[in-house]
Formats: sequence, structure tokens, C-alpha cells
Amino acid sequence: MSPQLLFWVPALLRLLMLLAIAGLAWWMGGAVAGLSAAVLLLLGQLVLQLSYLQQLSAWLDDFDSTRLPDGWGAWTGVFSRLYRLRRDEERSQAELSEWLARFRQAMHLLPDGVAIMDDVLFLEWCNPAAERHLGLTLERDKGMRVTNLVRHPDFIDYIVLGRYEQPLTLSLRERKLIVQIIPFENRRQILVTHDATESARIEEMRRDFIANASHELRTPLTVIVGFLEIASTTPDLDVASRQAHLKLMTEQGHRMQRLIEDMLTLSRLESVDYPMRPEPVPVKALIEDVLEEAKALSGGRHSVTASIDGPDVVGSAEELRSAFANLASNAVRYTPPGGTVHLSWKDTPQGPQFAVSDSGIGIDQLHIARLTERFYRVDKSRSRETQGTGLGLAIVKHVLLRHRAQLTIDSVAGKGSCFTVTFPKR
Ligand code: ADP
Repeated sequence: MSPQLLFWVPALLRLLMLLAIAGLAWWMGGAVAGLSAAVLLLLGQLVLQLSYLQQLSAWLDDFDSTRLPDGWGAWTGVFSRLYRLRRDEERSQAELSEWLARFRQAMHLLPDGVAIMDDVLFLEWCNPAAERHLGLTLERDKGMRVTNLVRHPDFIDYIVLGRYEQPLTLSLRERKLIVQIIPFENRRQILVTHDATESARIEEMRRDFIANASHELRTPLTVIVGFLEIASTTPDLDVASRQAHLKLMTEQGHRMQRLIEDMLTLSRLESVDYPMRPEPVPVKALIEDVLEEAKALSGGRHSVTASIDGPDVVGSAEELRSAFANLASNAVRYTPPGGTVHLSWKDTPQGPQFAVSDSGIGIDQLHIARLTERFYRVDKSRSRETQGTGLGLAIVKHVLLRHRAQLTIDSVAGKGSCFTVTFPKR
């Protein structure tokens, strides 16, 4: 049934019923009784309708869906529809507030900055990341012009030129920011900021690494190419010179090989596709091997000793062997003949510790923090002389990172050094 019919049919039926009662009174008591009954019944109806109207008006003054009055006749439908409308509105209000709260939370957690400005760049709202990136405080700066808040010439030029299709890279407050303005709603603009400091640093490290690696590889290659040119332009070169050249070329070839091997090891250690497969590591046997290698490298020129008394650990035996061997080989290579090198493995209150101490050339304090950087050397010529690639300690650092172990370096220039690896407590 249509809503009109639903309203009119019961209303007309009720009217007919009143008329029937009035007709009955007429029939039983005459015209006066009939008319009086009709007037009284209609008056009763009017008072009833007015009382419902009053209840509705009182309810509208004081919205509360739980206190919506009950009705009679058509009022039942009106009240129940009002009740439904009110309930739906409350529900959508609740949903809206929930969405708003979620949106606010998302904006709060967003690592990128978002600021909303009007068409003349007055700040209306911004999230905490935008506050951090641009040095704003929403409460204080709301309603101020963004160009007065971010006083960077490049930013002002960007706004003046209005070429918003391209983002702008900005160095602001010691951070590298990528900033872009996006017009929306034809009278508003969004300013989006992205902190690219970390990616710029990684990019710089990558560039430095490629430059350093190319430089490291170019030197031996230049030597090899030089001797090859001599060999091809001087066919009657005497045997002794030829032998000497071949020896040097082989040495340089080995140097390139070591460099490439170390670079591959580093890239493997850094790769997410090469996760560590932890296994029980028999540390005693491993250190005994490292000790033998160190003795072989020393060739009897140093006193190389070890005291092994610690527990086994869980990790990658191959990686730990490479890290420990790098530390031991450094100790031998940077200790003049006649000096001492001592390896030790023991349990301590901080956790199991591997230490390599030597009585070698030592390291000045100012270099210590940078020693684990790739290709960082205190003395380049000495490192090359002793067949160093400059990547040994970078490899050690990565291996230890994968084992959650810590490297500490104590050294006194001219006296000796001690490199200590502390594993987490079991
Ligand atoms: P390298 O292949 O040049 O030895 P590393 O990364 O192993 O590269 O070491 C970086 C630098 O740290 C070395 O060039 C050297 O200057 C210094 N170094 C490392 N170990 C020692 C040590 N035991 N004694 C003195 N200097 C050291």
C-alpha cells in the first residue's frame, strides 16, 4: 500500500467511526444529542492531536531518541519514522566520527607530511610529520601564510613559479625534503613533504662505494695493462725482467681477486635474499683454525697465541670464521715483526667474548669510529703493502650485526690494539 493510502484509510475509518457514534446518539437521543456527541468527539480528537503535536514539539526541542513519545493512529507512524530517522542519523554520525578518528590517526602515523592550505597559502591544518619537516606548530601557525613560515628561497621560487607538476627537493633543517603542492577543491592546496635524508645518504654511500671500488680495481689493472704493453712492444725482453713482470702481474691479479671476493661477501651479507641460517658453531675448533691461519700469515715473525675457554654459540660458522680471521689477520698485518698477537675466547657477564689483541702500530682515536666504513684505511700504503682490501672490518661489522654481537675497539697509537666481539648473553 502506498504511504498516502496508509495514512488516509485509517484516518477516514476513524472519522467514520466518530460519525457513526454521533449518528447512534442522534438516533437514540435526537438531533441535539447527536450534534453534541459529534462536537464533543471532534473536540476530543482535536485535543488529542494537539497534545501529540505538543509532545513532538517538546521532543524536537530536546533531541533524545530514547524519550520519543508513543503515538496513536497516524501519530504512531509519524513517531516511528522519526525514531528511525533519528537512529539512522545517530548511526551515520557515529560512523562519521569513527572515520574521522581513523583518518586523524592515519595522518598522525603517516611518515610523510601533509598540510592543507587555502588558495592564498594560509595554513588550515597539518599533520605532525609536516610540523617536524617544516618546523611548524599547528596551534601557533594556523591561519598564517606558509611562505612566511617556510622562509627558504627555493620554496618561495617554487610557489612564485607555480610549476607544481614537479616536486621540489629542499635542504631544510639539516634534512633533505621532497616537497610538492597539489591543488584540490579549486580553492585549496595540499602540501606534501617527504623526508629523503636517509635515501639520499644511501645513494651517496652507493656512489662512494662504486667510485672507491672502481679506483681500487683500476690501480692493479693499470699495472697489469702496463706490463702487457711492455711485453707486446718488447718481444726480446730478457728472461729475468719478464719473470719479474709476470710476478708483479700475478700479485696484482690476486689483489683484484681478493677485492672482488670481499665485495661479493659484503653484498651477500647485506642482501635480504641471503638470510643467515643459524646452526651450532663449534667455536673452539673454529678459533684453532683461525690461529693456524694467523701463524701461517705471520710466518714465524710474531708470537701468535690463543686461550680458548668460552661456550659454543649459535650462528653461521662460515661467517664467524670470516669475521674472526679478518680480525686475526689485521692483528698480524699491523704488528711489526717481533710483536705479539693473542686470540681469546671466554664467557663474561656481558656474554661470550672473542678478543684479538696485538702489540702493533695501534690506531689514533680519531680514526676508530670510521674503521668499519668500506675502504677506510688509516694508512693506505701500509694496507696495500700488507695485501689489505680495505673491506675487512666492514665485513666484520656486517657479520656481527647479523649475530647481534658488538665490536669494541681499544687502541693506543704506537702501542697496540684490542678488537673485542661480545655476543648476546644466552
Ligand atoms: P684493510 O684491508 O686495509 O686492513 P680493514 O677494513 O681490515 O682493511 O681495516 C681498516 C683499517 O683499520 C686498516 O687499513 C688499518 O688502518 C686499521 N686497522 C685494522 N686493524 C688494525 C690493527 N690490528 N692495528 C692497527 N690498525 C688496524
